[in-house]
Amino acid sequence: MSDSSEQPATGNGTDFDLAVIGAGSAGFSAAIRAAELGAQVALIGHGTIGGTCVNVGCVPSKTLIRATEAFHQADATARFAGIRAEAVLDDWAKLIAQKDELVAELRDSKYSQLLPEYNTIAYLEGAAHLKNGGVVVGEHRIRAPKVIIATGSSAYIPPIRGIDEVPYLTSTTALDLPLLPRSLLVIGGGYIGCELAQLFSRAGVEVTIVCRRHLLPEGEPEISEALESVFRAEGIIVRTGVTYERIGRTDRGVSLSVAMDGGTGLIEAERVLIAVGRRPNIHDLDLVGVGVEETAEGAIVVDEHLRTTNTDIYAAGDVTGRDMFVYMAAYGAKLAADNALNGNARRYDASAMPSVVFTDPQVASVGLTEAEAKRQGLTVRTSVLPLSAVPRALAARDTRGLFKLVAEAESGELLGAHILAPEGADSIQTAALAIKQGMSYVELADTIFPYLTTVEGLKLAAQTFDKDVSRLSCCAG
Ligand SMILES: Cc1cc2nc3c(=O)[nH]c(=O)nc-3n(C[C@H](O)[C@H](O)[C@H](O)COP(=O)(O)OP(=O)(O)OC[C@H]3O[C@@H](n4cnc5c(N)ncnc54)[C@H](O)[C@@H]3O)c2cc1C
Repeated sequence: MSDSSEQPATGNGTDFDLAVIGAGSAGFSAAIRAAELGAQVALIGHGTIGGTCVNVGCVPSKTLIRATEAFHQADATARFAGIRAEAVLDDWAKLIAQKDELVAELRDSKYSQLLPEYNTIAYLEGAAHLKNGGVVVGEHRIRAPKVIIATGSSAYIPPIRGIDEVPYLTSTTALDLPLLPRSLLVIGGGYIGCELAQLFSRAGVEVTIVCRRHLLPEGEPEISEALESVFRAEGIIVRTGVTYERIGRTDRGVSLSVAMDGGTGLIEAERVLIAVGRRPNIHDLDLVGVGVEETAEGAIVVDEHLRTTNTDIYAAGDVTGRDMFVYMAAYGAKLAADNALNGNARRYDASAMPSVVFTDPQVASVGLTEAEAKRQGLTVRTSVLPLSAVPRALAARDTRGLFKLVAEAESGELLGAHILAPEGADSIQTAALAIKQGMSYVELADTIFPYLTTVEGLKLAAQTFDKDVSRLSCCAG
């Protein structure tokens, strides 16, 4: 490396205590935490500041999901006698422009405008790679004894034959379409595929969703089945257990040849959206040069302190290939900064990590599924309560969903909670706290819950382990 490239980038002749690669949610969280600890930090961003969540992930998807949900609710008012409402979606481009404004606003207030608040964070733009003793960004050599990799992930494009000849959409480009297609084929039944399939269907697009196993394959099968029924009832075509053979262009768009049910089939649509998962951004980081190992799936290997196989280098967020949620990126990055600067005192713990799929009804989970618990050798009991047993759902005339609890058989300790319900996202946190506190289902059942709330379903599901709640009077138990 030349002399000039050895210049630190602070401009004041000092080196940094910490270099953070990637200025998304994890990168900002790590840099801010390090600054709070009094460290001199180099934060290196490449691409749009703020990363995935604010620009192309959580924020744009959730505002559009809310918009189409509001639109859909007009029809849903027919559940109540004497009400008729009508909504018209007449300008999709306007909705996209409004979404872009929100994204820009939040990017500014939650990322760009924060930088001047922390005068020990130096922001540098450019693609960084690792070098022993620091990081290289273009001409700059940044010297830092500790580095955190927070480079996120990108949409994975599976090697389906013909895929390179097809102008496919990813979640990023789909959320930016100025015009709605007539029909859309969504490949992938994970959370992004499910959320976007319902979003576009509610906007009036003819949607087919295909997946190799079933919707939300890592979740509880009861929830997957019930969500599939909801989708079908809304007019979404769901094809599960499908093997993708070949994809190609047609005069009217795209066609996917599949093998399913012992035969073959052809699924056609105007556009195709690939939503089969995301892969960590590790290319060009030169991991090998600094002794940082990756998994077979290309995620950075970390220990419980989020230390990589090079003990001066940490990694957090999507690049670690697990718990790919923004709050986990922020949590992990803060923990990595603490450990890098203060000596590995903190351990990463995702055992009470809630997760939400923003379909309607929402899917919300925390802890172990029944299958995961059994895989771990635990003996479990489960309780499944249909939403039709929850007074809130009866009053709302919307009983699409269920609660499922998983408990350790002998002690009754709550191991997992899984909800499919319209307000499931806001209900799951109660279960997260219960699991974090090591509560048993009996203790959960003994807790006071307010009447006519969705979260009351947790209490009823806990009671269901030992009794038939349909034989209880209102609020009894
Ligand atoms: C459609 C969609 C919807 C989602 N919805 C939700 C949701 O509702 N709730 C939720 O919790 N999560 C959601 N997520 C997931 C969430 O967005 C991610 O988990 C989170 O943004 C990951 O943060 P990160 O900091 O690890 O990565 P990112 O935010 O992606 O940040 C990484 C940054 O590093 C940059 N970079 C890459 N390589 C380099 C390099 N060599 N040098 C410098 N910079 C580099 C990238 O350009 C990027 O800016 C969603 C994701 C998608 C795609």
